[in-house]
Amino acid sequence: MDLFEYQGKQYFARFGIPVSPGGVAETVDEAVAVAESAGYPVVVKAQVKVGGRGKAGGIKLASNADEVRTHAGAILGMDIKGHVVRRIWVENASDIASEYYASFTLDRPNKVHLGMLSSEGGVEIEEVAANNPDAIARIAIDPVRGLSLEAARKWVDEAELDEAAREQASELLVKLYTCYVEGDCDLAEINPLILTTDGRVHALDAKVTLDENATFRHPEWAEFSATETEDPREQLAKEKGLNYIGLDGSVGIIANGAGLAMSTLDVVNQVGGSAANFLDIGGGANADVMAAALEVINSDPKVKAIFVNIFGGITRVDEVAKGVLEALERVHIAAPIVLRLDGTNAVAGRAILKPHLSERLVALPTMVEAAKRAVALAGS
Ligand code: GDP
Ligand code: MN
Repeated sequence: MDLFEYQGKQYFARFGIPVSPGGVAETVDEAVAVAESAGYPVVVKAQVKVGGRGKAGGIKLASNADEVRTHAGAILGMDIKGHVVRRIWVENASDIASEYYASFTLDRPNKVHLGMLSSEGGVEIEEVAANNPDAIARIAIDPVRGLSLEAARKWVDEAELDEAAREQASELLVKLYTCYVEGDCDLAEINPLILTTDGRVHALDAKVTLDENATFRHPEWAEFSATETEDPREQLAKEKGLNYIGLDGSVGIIANGAGLAMSTLDVVNQVGGSAANFLDIGGGANADVMAAALEVINSDPKVKAIFVNIFGGITRVDEVAKGVLEALERVHIAAPIVLRLDGTNAVAGRAILKPHLSERLVALPTMVEAAKRAVALAGS
């Protein structure tokens, strides 16, 4: 789960990482109130989960209430790379002497944590990596041994941060590492990390991705998921315990197991169609799960045909067949359904469906034939 900048900063603050005083606002009036208490000048920042907000006009300096009104009014409702701005963060503006980059993330192939630090911050790190790779100092951290202050100091020297920033930066990086590990982050990134003209080092931006596998350890994360602006289809699916990803095509896909779901996507593409979603009902799916899956897909108006591709293993095909019939009874499914059912109890499953087959409920014996029919039905 990705956090908004303001949530990332609040997360950082819990671990003692210095950030600027500020607050969240959803209206122009709230923005002015926050600005008054943060102290002018302030910076008004669009809260969207994409980078490059500055370039898009989503970050503005304001030196009085009038300017806050102007900028807050312009930024609220702004569309930045497809993300509509619903909230802004207003903080006391900093006088920047230098901008750095710092992050921790997981280096999976090497089974270590990777720290990256650069004296060239404020620009996209990909850009630095491409144009001046030597400007990034990397550190591999053994998860068992962690990051000591001594190691952080050496790392900071290697990155050649300004002398005046080095000791504070070292201490901050140890805190950021603690935040990353104890806070169960997949990514903790500060870009820019700054040295102010009066000699303070602090985080001016925050990009935090939480590791959702650790949700059980963090009841406090509930406040973050509450502000998650999810695809309504994905939200409905989550409520029903389904593994669902919305896509842009016209063929709704239900399969059991992520591998089969991916193959189904490929086959639909191969025969000239496009998938409207990825929906894995998992192993051991019963009638209820199948019915829920159809309901979720049915809620997507882009779906013109539904392809149910089940290879029964633990999942029993007769249960799946019952689920399809149940769903058809419970809700009006707008799109025609093409089924390919194989594996455990496939014969029984097909027998259950047989009396109900029509041109809107089709069963075909192979994946390719079924995909072709679904694509054809979606196209007409
Ligand atoms: P991003 O473009 O989405 O990564 O947003 P950032 O929060 O990183 O801000 C982009 C840039 O805006 C920074 O690199 C700074 O140059 C500038 N900026 C942000 N906050 C301040 C501030 O308090 N004072 C000044 N002078 N510039 C700021
Ligand atoms: Mn940034």
